[in-house]
Amino acid sequence: MNAKLDSGVTTRPVTRQTFDEVLVPTYAPAEMIPVRASGLDVWDQQGKHYLDFTSGIAVSSLGHANPKLVAALTEQANTVWHLGNGYTNEPVLRLASALIDATFAERAFFCNSGAEANEAALKLARKYAHTKFGPHKSRIVSCLSSFHGRTLFTVSVGGQPKYTEGFEPLPPGLNHIPYNDIEAARAAITDDVAAVIVEPIQGEGGVIPGNPDYLKALREICDQTGALLVFDEVQSGVGRTGTLYAYEQMGVQPDILTSAKALGNGYPIGAMLTTTEIAQHFNVGAHGTTYGGNPLAATIGLTVVETINQPAFLERVREASGKIFANLNKLAADYPQVFGQARGMGLLIGLPMADGFKGRAKDFTKACEKLGLMLLIAGPDVVRLAPALVVSDEQIVEADRLMRAAVAQFANA
Ligand SMILES: *Cc1c(COP(=O)(O)O)cnc(C)c1O
Repeated sequence: MNAKLDSGVTTRPVTRQTFDEVLVPTYAPAEMIPVRASGLDVWDQQGKHYLDFTSGIAVSSLGHANPKLVAALTEQANTVWHLGNGYTNEPVLRLASALIDATFAERAFFCNSGAEANEAALKLARKYAHTKFGPHKSRIVSCLSSFHGRTLFTVSVGGQPKYTEGFEPLPPGLNHIPYNDIEAARAAITDDVAAVIVEPIQGEGGVIPGNPDYLKALREICDQTGALLVFDEVQSGVGRTGTLYAYEQMGVQPDILTSAKALGNGYPIGAMLTTTEIAQHFNVGAHGTTYGGNPLAATIGLTVVETINQPAFLERVREASGKIFANLNKLAADYPQVFGQARGMGLLIGLPMADGFKGRAKDFTKACEKLGLMLLIAGPDVVRLAPALVVSDEQIVEADRLMRAAVAQFANA
């Protein structure tokens, strides 16, 4: 037993203070500790109710404790959990087939997170370029204010210097260019570039939609130079933007697409999708992971994809999005000193703070949380809404009511 902790610490009630005593301080979680959840409803230790408009950072798209997912997971847990990659399994074969049927892709690789999916994508792009063109073709181009994960490679590819400070030396051969800037892309993407990685809509960077003309230009430049185009759809994927993947709305197909977050609704899973021609460069032994595509994760992923990839389901996502945008536009019109114009796609929505409230997004979400509404931020200046895709009209009305109650207090404070 750790003598520095009170004896019995594992059995006595735990509080928010326990976090500061036992966890590595990488996070600053809210004061309240959620203990139970269903759909978009969350209850804390004191039994207080919250309406969840975060879905665990665009993860729990089918809501908390979704009965269909609970049933699928329970059934699989009573069948087979894990086999290792010396054996394949039925759920992973079905999930790969479902994703291939639904997208440009012909092959899938599974892992456990978004960072790992991007790590696989970038390694594959390097291997492809190395084999096909030679070792000089290795540079990776990504965008400023992008986010691609927290492994040393992916965080270095990400365009937010605050996340790499202190971790030097960083992997070499990376370049960052301004997002949505076609001229900068033309200048940076030369013959020595192996891959260009981009979010079709930047999530962590402030909910900034990619311009379709920009993404089309990236496609052209990649075709001209032999670089692979990687779309990081870890946040935008699996129905979040109103189509299964956001690229479908952009008129551009990537060579590699990464998916995670909502794919498991909270059960860890990541996927890298690509073509047969590119996939063959990851031959036996070239890459791997212990858990990737195990039967539990794959069962959940399959149930999620089958549920979300239905025309009526996606149509409802777009309808709900329209209702929330209408509410936010009205809110911003009523409080122009506090909020700018809402932006985003589907149910990935950013509400920027106006000039007089720069840096105060977190203060606003805290005011909402006090009233029982959970929201996210995307950087210090942007409030982010990412409710479960199954959000009801009543819940949309309730979130609007709570945000209005919060802003009335907040703007006067
Ligand atoms: C969340 C996120 C990641 C990282 O995913 P993890 O599962 O946290 O590793 C990568 N890219 C984007 C666009 C993300 O939003």
